[in-house]
Amino acid sequence: MSAPALVAAPVLVAARSRAHGPTAALWHAVELHRPAAEVDGACELTVCGSLARVEVEQAWPTPARDVCPSCLVLTR
Ligand SMILES: [Zn+2]
Repeated sequence: MSAPALVAAPVLVAARSRAHGPTAALWHAVELHRPAAEVDGACELTVCGSLARVEVEQAWPTPARDVCPSCLVLTR
């Protein structure tokens, strides 16, 4: 009989998207699957499916006000 594997909760960090046309730059959530040092400053796929630049020092959820509503819902 084996113990059930512990499912590690994904580590979430905030990532900043760039302003795109009428869309303002927003903070998105990115699930870290690699060491933070590897993704710092890299463009990663966000929880909501867009690309944003990871800032590992910015924890998710971020206290910022300009936050992607989709990422907020998806990480709740
Ligand atoms: Zn998002």
